[in-house]
Amino acid sequence: MRKSRILTGVGIAAVALLALTGCNSGSPASPGAGEGTTPTSDKPLFEVAKDVKLTGSPTFDRITKNGKVTIGVKEDQPGLGYKDATTGERTGFDIDIARWVAASLGYGEDKIEFKAIPSANREQAIVNGDVDYYVGTYSITEKRQQVISFAGPYFVTGQGLLVRKSEDTIKSEKDLAGKTVCSATGSTPLQNIEANFPDTKTVGLDVYSACVEQLINKQVDAVTTDQAILIGYAAQDPDELKVVGEPFTTEKYGVGLAKDDTALQTFINTMFTDGGDTWKAIFEKNLGASGMKVTQPEVAK
Ligand code: GLU
Repeated sequence: MRKSRILTGVGIAAVALLALTGCNSGSPASPGAGEGTTPTSDKPLFEVAKDVKLTGSPTFDRITKNGKVTIGVKEDQPGLGYKDATTGERTGFDIDIARWVAASLGYGEDKIEFKAIPSANREQAIVNGDVDYYVGTYSITEKRQQVISFAGPYFVTGQGLLVRKSEDTIKSEKDLAGKTVCSATGSTPLQNIEANFPDTKTVGLDVYSACVEQLINKQVDAVTTDQAILIGYAAQDPDELKVVGEPFTTEKYGVGLAKDDTALQTFINTMFTDGGDTWKAIFEKNLGASGMKVTQPEVAK
């Protein structure tokens, strides 16, 4: 049972890589695509732990009571947090990080409920206990730390720009005066434009895929958010879209969790610190083909 799930995961990885290299025609991959392409392809990324004890964690108590883990994620960000509309399969670096945390707590794929929560609603979902933790391009910020806690960081990227392939007037963030840029409501990139780019108009939407649609339809001039997210959209539609410029902020991704749950925070941080090659394997599987050069960041002390 567990083994077949893991094998399915390998098939999905192949789809994710195809999407990132821009070779995906949009149709679902044929069954078994990618299997056997590497000698290690049936090696699970991580094992589901047994008999896990975690005292002093209200979140773990709730997970135990529910018999499942509820994880907040994104589902429209290829390579990071993505749900295939046809198969319903979830893929991406964040999704596998979320699965790795669940597995370390003793919960396999059949005991995970994923909930898609947009950027603006993350803190509230955690505070309300609608999710046990959140893994979805979630930058660690002091403001957010007033209401929730983060484990990590587990990934570092920075704000970038996505424009139409035909665009030649926007080459970096220095060219944004008089332009209209779209980003997600409640996100740090949107806040940055509003605070520091007074001559730039902003459009705030629920999710980034809606911004990308507006970009393709010429309703906005650029989409701004973390470059890791934008690279995924550009790879999906290389004939229409391109990423320009260099990252102009630093975004450190953390696992969002309940503010007072230091037991869970320490558990996840220890997992990241002592995880051996697992982080690297998750990165390679999901973002290896993206060309991004990222190493695992050191966990905050
Ligand atoms: N990492 C940024 C943030 O947390 C942008 C990506 C997102 O909205 O998830 O606000």
